[in-house]
Amino acid sequence: MTDLLIDDIGTLVTNDPSLGEGPLGLVRDGALLIGDGAVRWAGPQTATPQAAADERVDAAGRTVVPGFVDSHSHLVFAGDRTAEFAARMSGRPYTAGGIRTTVEATRAASSETLSRNMRRLVAEALRSGTTTIECKSGYGLTVAHERRSLEVAREHTDEVTFMGAHVVAPEYAERPDDYVDLVCTAMLDACAPHAKWIDVFCERGAFDGDQTRTILAAGARRGLLPRVHANQLGPGPGVQIAVELDAASADHATHLSDDDVEALAASSTVATLLPAAEFSTRAAYPDARRLLDAGVTVALAADCNPGSSYTTNMPFCIALAVREMGMTPDEAVWSATMGGARALRRTDVGHLGVGARADAVLLDAPSHAHLSYRPGVPLVSAVWRGGEAAVA
Ligand SMILES: [Zn+2]
Repeated sequence: MTDLLIDDIGTLVTNDPSLGEGPLGLVRDGALLIGDGAVRWAGPQTATPQAAADERVDAAGRTVVPGFVDSHSHLVFAGDRTAEFAARMSGRPYTAGGIRTTVEATRAASSETLSRNMRRLVAEALRSGTTTIECKSGYGLTVAHERRSLEVAREHTDEVTFMGAHVVAPEYAERPDDYVDLVCTAMLDACAPHAKWIDVFCERGAFDGDQTRTILAAGARRGLLPRVHANQLGPGPGVQIAVELDAASADHATHLSDDDVEALAASSTVATLLPAAEFSTRAAYPDARRLLDAGVTVALAADCNPGSSYTTNMPFCIALAVREMGMTPDEAVWSATMGGARALRRTDVGHLGVGARADAVLLDAPSHAHLSYRPGVPLVSAVWRGGEAAVA
């Protein structure tokens, strides 16, 4: 007995090359069997095992893809920055300093407000097909506020990242090295038990290469795995540090030298591209084509945050990646699912191979290419997470 059979799937993207065509493991006229929250079988409809299922869903020739894995977001915050966005769209450039506006609002908010806001955003992401979402702290910037941010994030996701090194806390503006010391000692002591990852914004105006290394090493000593905000606003050492430390991901990766690209290609560090950030800051997009042609593993993520990318919508990011970054529709779908899983070093999500967590999205479309071919259209018709109907 299985819990659910989804059949008459016109296009089934499994991301398991052993199950179908190409890197997407594409099955035409497919079916998917789900039991105990996991994929039990996937393949051509005609070969469906004759097992009884509690429930059957007729996909009526439409498309099923793995749930999106959004490996980069900042969801614990209060307030918004509409005015800053409007100003920027009137011609002023974005600088990292805008984060401080959100820090003030976040510190002043109750834990209940922060949790309610995050719950709303996670639900919003789920409605557009995101079944795994990573979340960073980084709008508290004191020991107590960073710990609280992680406690809130943990209520809503397992993929929690400590990012006390988002910017230097305003109180330490004149003595940034003292802030780095705080992050590496009392803040990490309080925060490490509540997080899996540690991330640093390695950028002019945030943390330099030496500070980034120091902070990531202190995190590693407490069992946190590294990821890096690297080379977003200009060239810098972020990508090289990420590769050196075998970080799971170097995120943004917009301003890259040939050496950076080569280093990524020779590593197991994923380049996580966040095109909604370039969209929302009217900045130049990263060159995904260059990375893919060099053999770099690329992930796409939404970077939801109130300053530079206030969207949770992965289909929007897929469309941007195809239109603006030289990715094919197939590559963009892979990067938004399997790529995200790689960026989180997860093997149980991002695909619909046997044994995977049953995170699946039914699209009101004959093929996954419609995610970029029909931008802005709400194609997500149903979402299952761990085999449970999450959106219907
Ligand atoms: Zn970010």
